[in-house]
Amino acid sequence: MNELDLLQDGARSLLSIHLSASQLEAFRWYRDELLAWNERYNLTAITDPFLIESKHFLDSLTCLLAFKPADERLIDVGTGAGFPGLPLKLVCPQIQLTLVEATEKKVQFCRHVVAALGLENVDVLHARVEELGQDDHYRGRFQIALARAVAPMPVLLEYLLPLLPMGGRVVAQKGEMAPVETQSAAQALKILGGRVSKLVPVDLPRVAERRYLVVVDKISETPQKYPRRAGIPAKRPL
Ligand code: SAM
Repeated sequence: MNELDLLQDGARSLLSIHLSASQLEAFRWYRDELLAWNERYNLTAITDPFLIESKHFLDSLTCLLAFKPADERLIDVGTGAGFPGLPLKLVCPQIQLTLVEATEKKVQFCRHVVAALGLENVDVLHARVEELGQDDHYRGRFQIALARAVAPMPVLLEYLLPLLPMGGRVVAQKGEMAPVETQSAAQALKILGGRVSKLVPVDLPRVAERRYLVVVDKISETPQKYPRRAGIPAKRPL
């Protein structure tokens, strides 16, 4: 199998997307740069190039099973080395993307990728998401809020729902425990104004574990006191 065939074939079979030669070249550069930076900074535990294609790139793209990309404002919280936000931007250049990350080295890496690939309409914020949720510049300003591998569902909902207006949508990428985890979020959903609209199962090539997109729609206003100050949502989940 040639380089990035896994990504190309997976994008076609899972999402009916054909990646152009220039998109594949961007993904190849991103993968190589991720591996190079990873030797100095701990950006990802995944270092097998095939698994980067599958578990990072393709997995990020599966968010497209939960929304139709338009020129909407999308925020990826706890993006780490850019997942899922940057692969989505490579495939859907029209989205206006904000990446949020608390660790400076990861922020630097994301800014490097954005600059080197010439990606437009991408903000990379070095911040705790709890602070953004209480800032008028960000609160209620995004149509879609994404996160992968950041926090348990009740904590994640306190991070994400304040960033959306009514009608906005959370897409949380979760592992095989997603159905149980979602049930544990009933209280948080009620308080914060969310309703689970669906769980989308995702089976990635070369990955045994089933994954899920937990899709939550915002159906009523989030009370102003949420999110609580940095660290409290994780320490005392709703
Ligand atoms: N989403 C990426 C992925 O799937 O590869 C990174 C996942 S990593 C396990 C979780 C990331 O979330 C870390 O980089 C961490 O710094 C960031 N993070 C956790 N809590 C955060 C918060 N409250 N505000 C901003 N970033 C946060």
